[in-house]
Amino acid sequence: MGVIDEVKQRTDIVEVVSQYASLKKAGRNLTALCPFHSEKHPSFFVYPEQQSWHCFGACSTGGDVFSFIMKKQGIDFGDALRLLAQRAGVTLSSRFGQDAGRDEKERLYQANEAAARYFHDLLLNSPDAETARKYVASRGLTSKTIVDFQLGFSLNKWEGLKQHLTDMGYSEKELLEAGLIVEAEGKTHDRFRNKLMFPIHDLRGHIVGFGARVLDDSLPKYINSPQTPTFDKSSSLYGINLAAAAIRQQDTAVIVEGYMDVITAHQNGFNNVIASMGTSVTEKQVNILRKLTRNMVLALDADTAGEEAMLRGVGYENTLEAEVKVMVLPKGKDPDDVIKENTETWSQLLADARAIMYYTFTMVTADLDMTKEENQILAATKLLKIITNTKDSVRLDRYLRKLENVTGISYRKLEEALSKIKQESKARRPRQEVITRTVRSLVSSPIEEYCLALLLQHPELKAQSEGLSAEYFENSENREIFVAWQQANDPSSLKDKLDSAIWEHLDSLIRKSLPANQIEQKYASCVLRLREKFLRSLETKRGAMLALEAEAGGTAAELAKLKEQGIEVSTQLGEVFTQKRRMSSGAKEVRNELRKQ
Ligand SMILES: [Zn+2]
Repeated sequence: MGVIDEVKQRTDIVEVVSQYASLKKAGRNLTALCPFHSEKHPSFFVYPEQQSWHCFGACSTGGDVFSFIMKKQGIDFGDALRLLAQRAGVTLSSRFGQDAGRDEKERLYQANEAAARYFHDLLLNSPDAETARKYVASRGLTSKTIVDFQLGFSLNKWEGLKQHLTDMGYSEKELLEAGLIVEAEGKTHDRFRNKLMFPIHDLRGHIVGFGARVLDDSLPKYINSPQTPTFDKSSSLYGINLAAAAIRQQDTAVIVEGYMDVITAHQNGFNNVIASMGTSVTEKQVNILRKLTRNMVLALDADTAGEEAMLRGVGYENTLEAEVKVMVLPKGKDPDDVIKENTETWSQLLADARAIMYYTFTMVTADLDMTKEENQILAATKLLKIITNTKDSVRLDRYLRKLENVTGISYRKLEEALSKIKQESKARRPRQEVITRTVRSLVSSPIEEYCLALLLQHPELKAQSEGLSAEYFENSENREIFVAWQQANDPSSLKDKLDSAIWEHLDSLIRKSLPANQIEQKYASCVLRLREKFLRSLETKRGAMLALEAEAGGTAAELAKLKEQGIEVSTQLGEVFTQKRRMSSGAKEVRNELRKQ
């Protein structure tokens, strides 16, 4: 038995969920106020027989015990597995632990580290690095800073680094994999040439990739390492290796945009500053920060601090389960300028940092005469749209009270408007999403696995995978693999995207023996069957919910809503049946093949 199955077998979803929600009996199932969204009537259900859960309210999602923990703790599958394994007393061998994939990655870290030393030495000593040295001097960087950040220089040559690292025993394949060299017309050459080099570290201090800046006015100004087994831009934070201790100690992280902003901040003693690797902070980055602090301050330039940035802020707050603050920089200035001009200004801006939501309130109402009713409505509408994404009920309540203050519209009316907005935005979503996600079952699912094996063994099917949705996969491992497969550019990078606990399952799917003919028809038929299975399970769950509501004397509106959702599912099932009839021959073959397995 695989370790995942063992954890599942020793874990009772009812026990796990009851730590976060007070469950009450409802027939054979259990119900509670949803632990993920704020509500007055319970629409969250736990199904002990299937070991699954579903929220029929705002979340409109569900899954197994893994997805529950992933969602509740904001962690990925691997961490959820480790957490549940520990809880269940299942020992994960080191292969499945934190050190997974270490040997393969270790070699790439080493190559990166050798490259960083090479670049650093060139910056300090090479006659060719004169321009680069002038540049760092012009930016006011001290030699201590240059050493601390291990800044470097890449020669204006095609094979400088390549030669150096191959001499050290690294293969071209390894250097390609590390993103240090590139392949063009059958030959390989250095990726970074004539650039100022910024090694990018992870939290553990490994060099995962590089940022590089041109030394003239050419564009683009900056390039980064490509996505590699060690480097994922969306989950990297520049400076995190040097900032982690200060972030923990001060219990706050300040996020800026550029490499230079981080470096100047640290040089001036602001050691809790890190940079996102693009314009906006990603969910993955917030999840890394969450290990160090829940307090995040975004340093935003006055021009970028728009409503869109604020909307993203709500997402960060949901992930951190805490308020996010913004410090707004003077127009046209970045942190580097501000700090260099006067460190006091930076300290003051930081001290004045305001909760992102309250800043948004001010921003929206700044130019409005709030004594006029039409402006009150205008402001309330704009702000409610942002607030509506807040998942935490306590924070939501606080925002509504503040909004009541600002607009003079009563709390009760705002609350009504909020639920209307939620309904509307739900209705506007495409039908596919309205019936979002379903329950993953514990049992292994032959049809899911057959379909995945087809996809893994026939990359050409990727072109027609739109019909297939992650939510059709009820089994957590299968869903993880499908999602990784969707994101992977080539099959060889699949493992890097997956927790090593799933590798065994992945390998078995890749090795699964499949017949070689009529692949496309078989695939289409699989998709259809998965869709049918998904819709049927949704229908069953909804039926049970309807019966319960009726029994408990649910309001006419609630019952009508559930019925309406039921009709939606029936319509979609009808469509599936029509399609099935059209392609009955392919379906028959799939059925036969599944029986043989
Ligand atoms: Zn919910």
